[in-house]
Amino acid sequence: MSSGDSPARKAELTFRSLGAASTVTGSKHLLESDGTRILLDCGLFQGVKNLRELNWAPLAVDPSSIDAVVVTHAHLDHTGYLPRLVRDGFRGPIVSTEATAAVADIILRDSAKLQERDAEFLNERKATKHHPALPLYDSDDAGRALELFVTHPFGHEFRLPGDAVGMFRRAGHILGAATVDLTWQGRRIVFTGDLGRYDDPVMLDPEPVPAADYLVMESTYGDRLHEHADPAEALAQVIDATVDRGGTVVIPAFAVGRAQALLYYLWRLHSAGRLPGIPIYLDSPMAINASDLLGAFPRDHRLPPEVYEDMCAMATYTRDTEESKKITASREPKIVISASGMATGGRILHHLKAFAPDSRNTIIVTGYQVPGTRGRSIAAGEPYVKIHGEWIPVNAHVANLQMLSAHADADELLRWAHGFAIAPKRVFVVHGEPQAADTLRRRLDREFDWQATVPRPNQQFSL
Ligand code: ZN
Repeated sequence: MSSGDSPARKAELTFRSLGAASTVTGSKHLLESDGTRILLDCGLFQGVKNLRELNWAPLAVDPSSIDAVVVTHAHLDHTGYLPRLVRDGFRGPIVSTEATAAVADIILRDSAKLQERDAEFLNERKATKHHPALPLYDSDDAGRALELFVTHPFGHEFRLPGDAVGMFRRAGHILGAATVDLTWQGRRIVFTGDLGRYDDPVMLDPEPVPAADYLVMESTYGDRLHEHADPAEALAQVIDATVDRGGTVVIPAFAVGRAQALLYYLWRLHSAGRLPGIPIYLDSPMAINASDLLGAFPRDHRLPPEVYEDMCAMATYTRDTEESKKITASREPKIVISASGMATGGRILHHLKAFAPDSRNTIIVTGYQVPGTRGRSIAAGEPYVKIHGEWIPVNAHVANLQMLSAHADADELLRWAHGFAIAPKRVFVVHGEPQAADTLRRRLDREFDWQATVPRPNQQFSL
């Protein structure tokens, strides 16, 4: 819809990013018109301590005054604050694609358990100024948030409060991920959420959007390019070298995200006779029924059933802690994929404690690592990481295979931006570290002649 033709004064519409400046976590964007508030994404801050502490600060607006939340995809940095929002009074619909609701069900319940466990741990150790330490939210809050989900298919218009109209298009990235195209008060605003890669073997390409008045664009890899090497080949080399040393390959990855891409490449290597006969473990309590999830949403990814069934069958799934401990104790060469993806919590910590000190082993970093996380320290080659209060030496080899990332690199972000037949009047560059956001802003200016801005937290724009 074009804007600016009507002689009548248009209703006020404002945009602001709530929260912190220049971080890829804690995504929350607010649109407001005539007393109606729509929040786009509702993420948790992750990484360095002063960012995580922001999760405890009251939101800039009263949660009960928000009329709806639209969610681009299920990753924690886009959905992880939803249970807290509900705990603090939000009662509106949470709008997403069907697959996003299914993945969020796994992620939010797991996140609540981690929050509960962290609080318990602090109380046991009495390592807190707060008595007793409380979780940011608990399983009941997560359950209540999940009840508020309302889903819509890709490519169909849906109504939102205040007579806004939305539509999801495929963003690639992870199962269910969408861009949001929202028309409200005669303006068209597009949110990228996180954009995926082109020609990914599991996810479909990000779909272009034909037009927007305003674009809110992510910039995770705004200043970087992924290597073009074949990920399967790169994996094979790392695995071969590790097995030759008699070591174990440890891969931090989320159990229903990159883990499937990893399994796909391992399956390809196995089919080509390129994989040594070593066990593969997918060690996660998150019921790991990724095979079921892929089967439930066959149109949302590229894999035919015979492939995902085969590749999912290659791994041994460990759901209980005892089995997980056996993997940690065993010294035979193997591949261990375990969450969390940035080693901020979960079972991967036990594996890192066991395998990081031994130089025969390899830790593979596959995705974006937020500053302040153990994953970032390991990727940067730091000699020690702190786990459960203990400094663990990292003598294991570290392989950075960023080509396995689920995120578009800088050129792919611009490739997607080329899809606009009508240029946006203004672009807000968000969801990136300062350097990445600013590099993308300058490229949009130079290569597209688009007016791009990196908004400050809570800076309000009249659209
Ligand atoms: Zn994401």
